[in-house]
Formats: sequence, structure tokens, C-alpha cells
Amino acid sequence: MAHFLSNTTVQYVCACGILNPLTKLFFCRHCLALRCDFCLCHEVDSHFCYNCVENIPSSEAKLKKYKCSSCFDCPSCQHTLSARATTVTVPRKADEEPAAGDSKAAAAITRKMYYLACLACRWTSRDVGIPDQTVATGSWPECEYSHATRFALLMEHFQAVVLRDKQERQDYLRRKTPKQHKYPNLTDRTGLTVSMIRRQMGWSDKTPPKAKPIEVNPSEATDEVDQLPDSIFTEPVNLRELTTIKQRLSQPAGQPVTVKHLFPQHKSLSIKRSLRCRQCEHNVIKPEYNPSSIKYRIQLFAAHHVPDIRIVKLPDNLQGGVQVKLQLKFSNPTIHEMTVAIKELPSSDEETALIEEMKKAVVSSTPSSLNVSLSRQVSLTEEPRFVDQRVTAKIELPEESFVLPHRDDSAEFDEDLQLPREDPKFVIWRRANKACIELSMEPQDNLAPGSETIIGFTVQYSYVNTVQVPEKKDPQTHTLNSRVYIKCGTISGK
Ligand SMILES: [Zn+2]
Ligand SMILES: [Zn+2]
Ligand SMILES: [Zn+2]
Ligand SMILES: [Zn+2]
Repeated sequence: MAHFLSNTTVQYVCACGILNPLTKLFFCRHCLALRCDFCLCHEVDSHFCYNCVENIPSSEAKLKKYKCSSCFDCPSCQHTLSARATTVTVPRKADEEPAAGDSKAAAAITRKMYYLACLACRWTSRDVGIPDQTVATGSWPECEYSHATRFALLMEHFQAVVLRDKQERQDYLRRKTPKQHKYPNLTDRTGLTVSMIRRQMGWSDKTPPKAKPIEVNPSEATDEVDQLPDSIFTEPVNLRELTTIKQRLSQPAGQPVTVKHLFPQHKSLSIKRSLRCRQCEHNVIKPEYNPSSIKYRIQLFAAHHVPDIRIVKLPDNLQGGVQVKLQLKFSNPTIHEMTVAIKELPSSDEETALIEEMKKAVVSSTPSSLNVSLSRQVSLTEEPRFVDQRVTAKIELPEESFVLPHRDDSAEFDEDLQLPREDPKFVIWRRANKACIELSMEPQDNLAPGSETIIGFTVQYSYVNTVQVPEKKDPQTHTLNSRVYIKCGTISGK
């Protein structure tokens, strides 16, 4: 578990044929299949700032360019900036009356002032000469960039272009498709046209004005470039004053060269994302709306449904053609008993048939045109493919299946009181919902020293589906298959 998310030692095959560690896979309870990132539709549920934990509606977020208006990132190290308070003495202004009793009429008063500071790298807004503010939030000056107006103009132009195209397309479609009303409307019966009625009612006889893109001058390339200043050749470079690439790119509009021009950057908003199975359009992941909650309303991680396989012991000395033992631990993450059998991987013919079957299933389950218009995003199903992994070692498959008891979180604290179970020989120990099995494997004898030995097998397991099926009351038990590939180390040099 050293690499929780990038662990590629034990990999499962997704329904589409892509290999992934179990921690990166999801399980659709309606299709009863594994789903990887490519087999899921990613949808943005809500925008929020993870620093101030504020939910921002998507229209507002778009307006704010997906930045939080009150939180800032350090331009130097990208850590969050915090507002620090100091007291400063400022000279009393002439119009401010000295308080009664303050007979000395102090020439100066103390005032609380705020500046932004990074607690990670000690950068402060004072370093670049941003004046201290009297309130902690909301009044920080915005950095002005030289090209901001040009970009605003370009954006306006292209928005109008898009709008015009859209209007033209709509007009075209309206003219092309004949109106299909069941009942003739007023204009049909009276022979009046819409524009005549509008004129009679005293409305202007004008259709909404067409969006007209404003003209912008195209940029022109020029040969005339300013010469480099002489000082660049004579003065030594002070690297402390130059910004790093990361610092420059975190401020894309300005891209300052020197640290003097670093400016606090508004924090980018984060999203809550829900994942939907592309085949059946059911949600696989649905987070809670509240940004401060890390819980899910729906969470179908594969690790909660598919037996988890981990390596317990690998042989020390792997050699081509020599049979060795290896130990694997299977654990049952579900609350139902699971029968597990280890089977051979499908042959290439069987795999082709599997892919064909899957393609057919995709076509038949594609939602009707009605659903297409309702769904927010047109689903593109991932094309099933062959597994891009070769097996380089043979394993001796156990003939019998074994049973994994259901998961019981309290069992961890119990005394080890387990009823002896009639187990096949290859199960060498078991504890709670886990069982360790021993398999024999033999790397191919033509493997060069240093090459990876990979074993593969199909895990067949019973799965109790708790999704309510209207016709059948009881939970349904299914037998599911998952293909697994395990890297067992490299062939030793001797
Ligand atoms: Zn997939
Ligand atoms: Zn914020
Ligand atoms: Zn910093
Ligand atoms: Zn599904």
C-alpha cells in the first residue's frame, strides 16, 4: 500500500479492457460491471472554494472566472495567503475632532491595518508595495494587466460570433422544419401574419436584433523588436530577483519576470463531481452538496464490491522454468458471504467474443431519442478493447472454490474465535473476511534476466446485489468475473 493510488502491482481489467488498480475503479450495480474513468461520465455538481468553504452557483462562478473573490494564493509558493493584522499609528486628519477628555489632542491615533502574508514562505503583500488595508477581506487592489482590454475586446467579439451562429442555425432550422401543430393557431385561421398582428397591437414590427460582432483590429506581426538593454550583458544576474517558471505561469495574464511584480492571485474554485455510468446512466458517485462535507450520497467504489487481492509473499529468486510458490490474500469487502474461484484467463477467441458481446450490449442499451434530449451530456461509450498485458508466467489453478465470510468491522476487536472451516488445501490461513492462498507459478523459461514476471487469472465471485428489483423481492445473487494481472517481480540475474 505504499502507493495507494498509483499501485500497479495488482491490476484489474475494467469492462472496457483498460487495466487499473482496484482503488481507481468503480462498480456499477445496475450493469454489474467494473467502470474506469473512461467508462464514466464526469459531471460538475457544484463549485466551491475549499479555503472559505463557500458554495458558489455555477453562473456566478463563471462570472468570477472560477476564482474565489475573497481568498488568495501566495504568488511565490502557491500556498494560501492569510490576512494578518497590525496596529499602525497614523496622523490624525484635520477634520477629525479630538475626543473629549483627550486634552492633549494626540497628533496620531493607532489603527488596525491588515496585510496578506504567506505562512509557508513568509511572502507578504508588503514585499511588493501593496498598501495595508483597513478591512481584512474584500478590498484588496486588483492587479491590472496591459493586455486586459485587448482580451476583453476579443472575448466580446467571439461571444457575438457564437451568438450569431446560433441564431442563424435556429433560423435555418425553423424555416426547414414545417410547423406541426395539432390545432391551427390564430394566425393560421385569420390569415394574419405575426408581423401584421404585432403592428396592430402597436408593437414594433421587428424581430430581435441580430447579434453583430464588433470589429476588432487583427493583430499584426512585426519585425521591429526593441533591442535588449545593454545592462543585460554587463550586470550579473541575481537569481533571487527572478521568478521561477511555476511562479510565472501561476499568473498567466502578467507572467512577471522579477519577484517585484508578483501579485496575490485569487484562489481557483474546486468542484464537486459526480460520476455516471455511460451505459445505464445511473450515478456511480454522487457527493453531498454541502462543500464542507466529504461524504457521498452514492459511492460505488469497486473496492467495496470486488474481492481485494494483495500479495503476501513473493518468491525470492525467480528463474525461468522453475516452479515457485506465491501467497495471495483475498478479502471480501461486502456484507454478504462470497464464494471465490480462480479461473483461467479467456483465450484470445473468447476475448474477441466478449468484446463483441459488449459492443452489442452498448448498442441495445443506448437510450432512446427522448432520453438523449433529456440527458445533459451525450454519452460516448468507451470502445471495448483487448487487454494490453501479456502473461509471462504460468500458474497452477486450484480446482476448488473457497468461501470468504462477510465483512464485519467489529470482528477486528474480537478474540480470534473462529470455527474451523473445511478448507481446500491451498488456503493456508484465514482471519475474519480474509483468506490467504498459496499458488504455484512458473515463469516462462525464455525470459531474460530482469524481465517482469506477470501472472493473470479470472476471479469468479458471487455477488449479492441489494438493488431492489421490482419483480423480485429478495436480493439477487450473481456470479461475476474480474480479470486480474499481478506483477510478481523480475527474473533474477543468476
Ligand atoms: Zn473502462
Ligand atoms: Zn474562498
Ligand atoms: Zn508562499
Ligand atoms: Zn451501469
